[in-house]
Amino acid sequence: MSESVERIPAIVAGLRHGFARGVTRPEGWRREQLRRLRALLLERGADFEEALRADLGKSGVEAQLTEIGFLISEIDHALRHLSGWMRPRRVPVPPALLPATARIVPEPLGVVLVIAPWNYPLMLALSPVIGALAAGNAVLIKPSELAPATSSLIARLVPDALDRRAVAVVEGAVPETTALLRERFDHVFYTGNGRVGRIVARAAAEHLTPVTLELGGKSPAYVDGTGPLRDIARRIAWGKFVNAGQTCVAPDYVIGPPAALRRLVPALADAVHELYGNAIERNPDYGRIVTDAQFERLIGYLGEGRIEFGGEYDAASRFIAPTVLSGVPRDATVMREEIFGPILPLVAARDLDDALAFVTGRDKPLAAYVFTEDRAARDRWERETSSGGLAFGVPVMHLAVPGLPFGGVGESGSGAYHGERSFRVFSHEKSVLDKPLRPDTLGPTIMPPFTRRKEAL
Ligand code: NAD
Repeated sequence: MSESVERIPAIVAGLRHGFARGVTRPEGWRREQLRRLRALLLERGADFEEALRADLGKSGVEAQLTEIGFLISEIDHALRHLSGWMRPRRVPVPPALLPATARIVPEPLGVVLVIAPWNYPLMLALSPVIGALAAGNAVLIKPSELAPATSSLIARLVPDALDRRAVAVVEGAVPETTALLRERFDHVFYTGNGRVGRIVARAAAEHLTPVTLELGGKSPAYVDGTGPLRDIARRIAWGKFVNAGQTCVAPDYVIGPPAALRRLVPALADAVHELYGNAIERNPDYGRIVTDAQFERLIGYLGEGRIEFGGEYDAASRFIAPTVLSGVPRDATVMREEIFGPILPLVAARDLDDALAFVTGRDKPLAAYVFTEDRAARDRWERETSSGGLAFGVPVMHLAVPGLPFGGVGESGSGAYHGERSFRVFSHEKSVLDKPLRPDTLGPTIMPPFTRRKEAL
């Protein structure tokens, strides 16, 4: 047994003790933790950038935009709204119960576990923590072992910056996560793939612990050829190739009529050129595949269609060029598995009906993106398809709107967070009814003996 596995029961007990003593409850404590986390991200930004570069070849600017800056905005939003979120909400009482008052009081759940993946290894480890701390919980963070530099930096810096009585980090892989999941938590927040999501849900069920599962899937982008194709291609290329395609809400494939797809190919090629230039392999703005195993899996997809452009790769640096594949059979592996890399298949659909049938006939995706100027087509996508999120005219950015809950549905997950929803997901909404004993309005109405006089009431 590894040292960290042996220490897990004591770490969880320590957090439970901290929570039970009430250290996490005061609003002041919550604010202080959020402020300290914010300061850490600012002061050690260069170290986080460096770790993200080591793990994923991420550029400093991209690290700021998609990880560090994102977290700072989330913290600012939470600090701005925390008092309002914490305030009990009055609800009306039915006349028969009056006089009385009723309110919903948000209270912290207790000790929560956050299990993070490798693709945005900082943002996805800490974004749920913002909600957990804002809601007054103690939290144990398990970063992804597949992003080792970021994981060790989180382990080294975060508990020091925050209150160790209520915040801990356990690094590790399957043995450590398995040991963690044997413990009783009050909520488990898991981001990653559906296979492990099932393991997490089963383990949590033993303790009747509620779970949030932030999973993935094949998010379609529908393009019917209406609208400015150059701009559409640029946005799709950006959403697909940021982080070398390793984004849970990246457009997985493009679906549309063959004529639209034919026109889209050169527009996508131009867009990739505009974004990353000629020598993509040497461009520090373009990321790398996280592991050899992921690299091999992705290379395997390249033979499943015609390479319209891209297709170059280098195993030593785990580089795969932005690639567009056409003529991909609908049952090819690349169309059955979530791609999670810089390979974009184009899937021909006869018409809108065919595209809708293709998408609704499969697992519900984490996102769907629709690029059309046809009002009726937009309405049909909104009404007839189900996905975690739906965005018209732009991929990925719906997750940057704090008022929009972010999460999946069906195979792409359950539960949601971001903004106020992050606070709610880590809170219990306690129902409080307050009825004075005098005057006694219940005896004469709902309590036996049920005399004729009462029936007449
Ligand atoms: P990963 O391999 O890093 O796994 C995620 C976490 O699960 C890690 O902390 C890992 O230690 C743990 N884990 C792995 N095997 C385990 C086991 N047998 N038992 C217990 N824990 C285990 O990341 P991943 O799953 O490859 O991440 C990619 C997937 O995550 C994609 O499907 C992607 O779409 C999805 N994702 C979803 C979101 C979202 O917000 N919905 C965000 C990012 C990624």
